[in-house]
Amino acid sequence: MPPTSPQAPGSIRLDRLRGSMERQDYSARKITALTVNPGCERRAVLDAAGIDKSGLAARLGPTAPFGQSPFAITRQRAFEEQLKANGYAELITLLRAELEVPVAEAAVADLNTVGENAGWWPRAGETRRLLGAIAADHDARVILDHPVLTLNVAGTNAYLVPDAVSHRIGDHLYIVVIKSFAAVDGQADAGKVAEAAKQAAVYVLALRSVLSGIGVDPTLVAEKFLLVLPKDFANRPYGRLVDLRQQLDAVRHQLARLGRVEERAATLPPEATLDLSTDPRTGHPTVGTDELVHTVEALPHLYGPRCLDMCELSRYCRDAALRDGDPAHLGSVVRDSLPGLASTAAAYALARGELNPSAAQEEVAALLGDAVRLRTLRLAGGAA
Ligand code: SF4
Repeated sequence: MPPTSPQAPGSIRLDRLRGSMERQDYSARKITALTVNPGCERRAVLDAAGIDKSGLAARLGPTAPFGQSPFAITRQRAFEEQLKANGYAELITLLRAELEVPVAEAAVADLNTVGENAGWWPRAGETRRLLGAIAADHDARVILDHPVLTLNVAGTNAYLVPDAVSHRIGDHLYIVVIKSFAAVDGQADAGKVAEAAKQAAVYVLALRSVLSGIGVDPTLVAEKFLLVLPKDFANRPYGRLVDLRQQLDAVRHQLARLGRVEERAATLPPEATLDLSTDPRTGHPTVGTDELVHTVEALPHLYGPRCLDMCELSRYCRDAALRDGDPAHLGSVVRDSLPGLASTAAAYALARGELNPSAAQEEVAALLGDAVRLRTLRLAGGAA
């Protein structure tokens, strides 16, 4: 059974927006994507309301392939299972090697379910109880398998599940992140490691938040995490500690910038809906595409080319930016260089002196004029 989310206080407006569809919960991946583009209220509201963004994108038009391939998911799962087999024997070996733990064994608390219950609440409650016990016992040797951590994201409760939290080592607990991309000769793809580090930073903040909530010093959580990868394309595990201080500062800063999505959702008309359900008798959508578009368009967005790597709606937003000639489709540098201009066509017209600038556009018009003059001089020099 999939986990069920409790109703967060004050989320009635967001739940109404989702309609009868099952809630899609936050993940560390979603939160790191939010922090990449914190100015996009559209995505912030969709995630907070638990809207199925892939399903919504499919209703809005053609979609681009997005997310992990089934092959990558299967590979990841198999590698995780291998690490966790035989009472986490391979993970414990890595902990010993990387963290110099002089302990051969540790108990494992499997928090994938509590009893037979896979819901968030019992798992989060049991996670809190175990963390309290670990904090009280300096020699506690319990690894937490898929603990459920909570973090307030823009006024909404996020339930986050790291692969594992190490047993207590010295005065620290370590977040463990398991990925299936390879480390070859001790080197892994820097971009993928950075992405894993951002996710780990989200988990560290969530673990600290849970510890603070139960009256435990949050500095018990280490500022490094253990990244576990397959070694040299074989399935032997390789682990290394990665420093997180920079990512922690960045994620903390970006989370603080995310606006309160409840307030944004409250500005939508009461009838606004993104219900993607179908009528069980006819199989037809219960809400028309025009209505969905109307609601999506009522949510302010901030498109940029980086959206293509991190948001299911990127094709829809990019098509709209191209259609409108929005400078944002050329990137945030261009967008920020053209304040007050809604289209590249207006920028060209101002640059060529074909459009009289308004008072607010005078500065940018002067800069565009200078740019045209410099380009003309450069081209003349190059031709000589
Ligand atoms: S693709 Fe659209 S909704 Fe997604 S982050 Fe970019 S602008 Fe926001």
